[in-house]
Amino acid sequence: MKPPPFSYHDPSSVGEVINLLETLENPKLLAGGQSLMPMLNMRYVMPDHLIDLNKVEGLSYIEDNKESISIGGMTLQRDLEYSELIKAKCPLMHDALQQIGHRQTRNRGTIGGSLSHLDPAAELPAVCAAHDAVIILQGPGGEREIPFSDFPIAYMTPVTKEDELLTGVKIPIWQEGHGYAFVEFARRHGDFAITSAAALLEVDQGGGITRASLTVGGVGAAPVRMTSIEEALIGQNGDEEKLRELCESCREIDALGDVYASSEYRQHLATVMSRRALVKAYSRSNGGV
Ligand SMILES: Cc1cc2nc3c(=O)[nH]c(=O)nc-3n(C[C@H](O)[C@H](O)[C@H](O)COP(=O)(O)OP(=O)(O)OC[C@H]3O[C@@H](n4cnc5c(N)ncnc54)[C@H](O)[C@@H]3O)c2cc1C
Repeated sequence: MKPPPFSYHDPSSVGEVINLLETLENPKLLAGGQSLMPMLNMRYVMPDHLIDLNKVEGLSYIEDNKESISIGGMTLQRDLEYSELIKAKCPLMHDALQQIGHRQTRNRGTIGGSLSHLDPAAELPAVCAAHDAVIILQGPGGEREIPFSDFPIAYMTPVTKEDELLTGVKIPIWQEGHGYAFVEFARRHGDFAITSAAALLEVDQGGGITRASLTVGGVGAAPVRMTSIEEALIGQNGDEEKLRELCESCREIDALGDVYASSEYRQHLATVMSRRALVKAYSRSNGGV
């Protein structure tokens, strides 16, 4: 299959990209192409212009800001996977990255492309939801920062305007030694998950949970934070029966159903993935693997 005809542009600065977005009719940004190229080949999208971001300067970086990590929109998933900083300070992302597609897709795929594509089952949006990440968008009016909770506005649709691009992501980090786990259920290795769960836990010296974040992916139109479970986890000591009981409320999520899985099956997977993620995260908070 071949893509529809388009004109190709390869700007070298963010300013040039914004100018092209403002002036061209029906443009589309190209990052790693790992989702866009199949969509072009299948003619799901038919842009008149492709604006390639690969030569744009200053969009690929991973920076330690002590309380947060800043990541450029064009940073490759591969560079994140092999980053010692990400592994040490944002181990949930490291865990998740190894479950994204294949080595070949991670070699080209970017964080900004994954967040902008916003597949409900994609790992990086779930990690951003779990960490309360802040998305940085740039357009003709300058830069704006969007809390991840406000970033998805509909199924596979971010709040990004037509003349904006995603230039970066800020990930607030959790205390050293926190528990984390990203678990998912996919039909085959490398497939998009049917359902995933991302857990973060901070635990005091007596084993009591003091802070919790639980996100379910692939079930709703965007990653869902299970705030009622997060609140109920405070003060718990990781007892597996209690975690199982708390995760039962995932059966109430308004779940998608499609040819791969019914909504009831996704709700069931959400309870199981959530429990597994919490059990693993709790164990890791005590030095487990
Ligand atoms: C075989 C295969 C398996 C895969 N499995 C998984 C998986 O398990 N989990 C998963 O999460 N992903 C998976 N993917 C998708 C992959 O992770 C993609 O890399 C990702 O979805 C898109 O990133 P990209 O950089 O390739 O973006 P592109 O494909 O280039 O772009 C995707 C969309 O985002 C827009 N866009 C890109 N960058 C920006 C930006 N900076 N600002 C605004 N808009 C932008 C584009 O216009 C386009 O609409 C798979 C892909 C393949 C081919």
